[in-house]
Amino acid sequence: MAMTFIPNIMHTLMDAIAPLHCETCNQRIDGHTHVHRVCDACLYLFESAPTDDDLLNQLYTQSNKDSFVYRIESHFAFHQEAPIQHTIHAIKYENAQQMAFDFGKYIAMNKNHSEVDNYVPVPLHSARVRERGYNQSLLIAQGISSITKVPVTNALERLLYSTTQTKLSSKDRMQNVQGIFSIKNADLIRDKRLMLIDDVMTTGSTLEECAQVLLESGACSVSALTLAAATSTRGIQ
Ligand SMILES: [Zn+2]
Repeated sequence: MAMTFIPNIMHTLMDAIAPLHCETCNQRIDGHTHVHRVCDACLYLFESAPTDDDLLNQLYTQSNKDSFVYRIESHFAFHQEAPIQHTIHAIKYENAQQMAFDFGKYIAMNKNHSEVDNYVPVPLHSARVRERGYNQSLLIAQGISSITKVPVTNALERLLYSTTQTKLSSKDRMQNVQGIFSIKNADLIRDKRLMLIDDVMTTGSTLEECAQVLLESGACSVSALTLAAATSTRGIQ
């Protein structure tokens, strides 16, 4: 898979013809914004994610055991009423590829960079990529990489075409992802400090499952960075 993000020509043309509107407030966007289809006023109002410690605690509480992920960072808080919800939906289901890439760039510009060797996007099943046309986590990773210059490695594959996890309980989410990831090429990640990249952390069960596979395949350590994280009190239950 190509490691460079190339904007879809049709969408670039459409954007040039049709005026852009913010996904969140629906105001017309004139001029440059940090994130495609999101006005800067909305972007600056998005709630911040819980702290890294809170996220890790959330993960420990959910899995009830030591975590395979040693640190989790996230940028925005995600819950059902959060304004960012519209943009996450656009990234996942409305072909907002440039938006995903720009969000990656934006969070990379606003975070201290971790000492890692490679980013590993959480994979979609190949049939889902064909359906959607892209993997949003890969685009976010490429956006981050464009700033930090840390390479992106598509080291994992998703073996099962699972249904959406949105309506599942945390226990069901954990069972739903067990054994569904496998390593594509262990040579690419052996002894490497890896950072998983995903769009949203809800219970963290997907990140945990990916981290376990990477560590068992020889990775030195696995941390995670997500665009948004469900808050423990208002997250998806
Ligand atoms: Zn707006």
